[in-house]
Amino acid sequence: MLNLILFGKPGSGKGTQATFLKNKYDLVHISTGDVFRKNIKTETELGLKAKVYAEKGELVPDEITVSMLENEIELNLPSNGFIFDGFPRTIYQANEMNKILSKHELLLTATVALDVSDNLLKDRLLKRGEISGRADDQSEDKIHTRLNEYRKKTEPLIQYYQKMNKFYSVSGVGDIDEISSRLVDLIQKF
Ligand code: ADP
Repeated sequence: MLNLILFGKPGSGKGTQATFLKNKYDLVHISTGDVFRKNIKTETELGLKAKVYAEKGELVPDEITVSMLENEIELNLPSNGFIFDGFPRTIYQANEMNKILSKHELLLTATVALDVSDNLLKDRLLKRGEISGRADDQSEDKIHTRLNEYRKKTEPLIQYYQKMNKFYSVSGVGDIDEISSRLVDLIQKF
């Protein structure tokens, strides 16, 4: 069973590569960003709570995010494995995730980061904003907030997973297919 965390800054290509890996290895893809956006669109209770944060580029509070994640896992069990995209994003979430995984006897295989420089990310996100209309891709200010949130709250997870011997990274620069191949080459070693 393959249980992967895809890690990286906003715009690093997590969603694209997670979709590829989901199809290749028949995994359940859980994207916390997608779940929030779907709930915001359909104006569910979760959506209304998340909207204020997500649309400004801030992280949604941990309690809301963790219970949503646990619910998504339980809805998809049993499965061949999971690919988590955009979760965990804080140390608190990572600790809670460990508990949820062990409760369901799931073992984390690895955390894989897509490595991309900030300058490249800003361009990618602004371009994506023109096409997708995503509220949080619409201004340099919001992008700046997301990169800051990442630096403050998410980056410490690199050390966290390094200590568990579960951290790997590949370059997220280049053609989509090229990056997918880098991921497959790495995953074959697990
Ligand atoms: P990106 O990585 O491009 O910022 P995502 O689609 O992963 O996009 O996330 C969009 C927004 O959803 C985040 O800025 C945040 O507000 C919210 N979000 C997603 N995942 C989490 C999480 N694990 N914890 C808190 N908020 C989250």
